[in-house]
Amino acid sequence: MQAGESEKMVVRFWGVRGSIPTPGKKFVKYGGNTSCMEVRCGSTILIFDAGTGIRELGLALNKEFANTPVTIHLFIGHTHWDHIQGFPFFALAYRPDVTLYLYGGHSVSTLEKLILGQMDREYFPITLLEMSARLHFVEMKRTPITIDNITIHYTYLFHPGLSLGFRVEYGGRTFVYATDNEVLNDPDLGEYNMANLGNLIHDAHMLVTDCQYSDEEYDNKVGWGHSSILQVSQLAERFRVKKLYAFHHDPLHTDRDVGKMVRKARRRKKTSMKIYGAREGDTVRLL
Ligand SMILES: [Zn+2]
Ligand SMILES: [Zn+2]
Repeated sequence: MQAGESEKMVVRFWGVRGSIPTPGKKFVKYGGNTSCMEVRCGSTILIFDAGTGIRELGLALNKEFANTPVTIHLFIGHTHWDHIQGFPFFALAYRPDVTLYLYGGHSVSTLEKLILGQMDREYFPITLLEMSARLHFVEMKRTPITIDNITIHYTYLFHPGLSLGFRVEYGGRTFVYATDNEVLNDPDLGEYNMANLGNLIHDAHMLVTDCQYSDEEYDNKVGWGHSSILQVSQLAERFRVKKLYAFHHDPLHTDRDVGKMVRKARRRKKTSMKIYGAREGDTVRLL
């Protein structure tokens, strides 16, 4: 380990698609797996969402920690299928030397009950109680979470059934993961929504957020709980985000469509903020 290595925040995209996986040759560049992000803060491993991308992440972690016990912190923003569907295939959940913390809090039910239901034997041959990792469910109740030297703030997002957005602060760097969120134009709700999102994303070095729709598509999807790339890039510029990653790509959007949306957003931005389309397999180092 080099000097300062322990202070590094390294972010990797394992699944960037919204709603449902999209295999096929039109989806090769950005990828077809649903939501899953890995964030390493020094040697601490955080995961955000357990969409189908978590399967590959589990295989990679299994290789890296083949003979070493490991602790994982998995945050679930909400339990729509595209954010939990990979969980039964997360290899580390089947290892007795793995300690797995699962954090939730978007629902009136508990995350433990919701995952227990997902892992019912009618849907999958192995139940939650049969997974061999040491599982600890944590219901988040408004106060920030502290793990090692990392602080994680979170807030409710505008989405059917609510979802949670997360702000990770570590070693002077800030990463924000806020998907399944609609940036509202409604003047009554808009100001609250703005202030709430501003608190979450301000001055982030990296913001990964819901940009499911093009501007034109959004006009027909008001109230669906997802945003257009125009709304999001204006919001991110207003709150001085440094790098914006459009995430939760619509399953109808091919590589060409996503590329077009990102280029259009880049052309009309007014600040030095960088805009990217989130790509499965990409790694970003926040040094
Ligand atoms: Zn989703
Ligand atoms: Zn959702």
